[in-house]
Amino acid sequence: MADSRTALVLFSGGQDSTVCLAWALSRFAHVETVGFDYGQRHRVELACRLTVRDELRRAFPGWASRLGDDHVLDLALLGQLSDTALTRQRAIEMQAHGLPNTFVPGRNLLFLTLAATLAYRRGASVLVGGMCETDYSGYPDCRDNTLKALQVAISLGMDTPMTVETPLMWLNKAQTWTLAERLGGTALVDLIVEHTHTCYLGQREPRHAWGRGCGQCPACELRARGHAQYLAGEPAAELS
Ligand code: ZN
Repeated sequence: MADSRTALVLFSGGQDSTVCLAWALSRFAHVETVGFDYGQRHRVELACRLTVRDELRRAFPGWASRLGDDHVLDLALLGQLSDTALTRQRAIEMQAHGLPNTFVPGRNLLFLTLAATLAYRRGASVLVGGMCETDYSGYPDCRDNTLKALQVAISLGMDTPMTVETPLMWLNKAQTWTLAERLGGTALVDLIVEHTHTCYLGQREPRHAWGRGCGQCPACELRARGHAQYLAGEPAAELS
């Protein structure tokens, strides 16, 4: 029996949020997706979102009837507020305070709050996001306590119970591949390799065993390393 609540998945078209979408589709009777257009350099990500949704519907008929509307919110405002490597033509590098300059301060706080506003209107009471403490790049707005505090703030501020689910919070990249296989078998793993986007530079070529991208940027390296550990069946890839 599926959970009768409606879930709204923060869905970027990347590997992590695609696994979160599959996780939600395996649990909730009705699932919608929301994406954010904030002037990100790799706009190819926004195109991948729709392809991934179509491919999920095609490959998993049991999930197709649960997958509802997609929403894209215009967050050009974020590009005005931040000066980072994700929204400007700058090299990705570590900064003095230990965070990479891909960090958009408070981005996930904004994303979740806006998603909650949309969820309220759509009758959804579960927000699902791919935030993760394990492999994260030091982003404080990805931490479990940050998100638990935000769940309380949103639920109080909107005077309605709103649950924030983060199924990847304690998984590394190899375990995320394992979770994908558990949720949708090799069909889901193959779909993620072929159709999701991760590369910070926005490249879709060349095609590697782990997916498409430059193979050099931090996001590609993380994805490639996790996929290799997953394929090798290393302990790092096992789920408890
Ligand atoms: Zn890359």
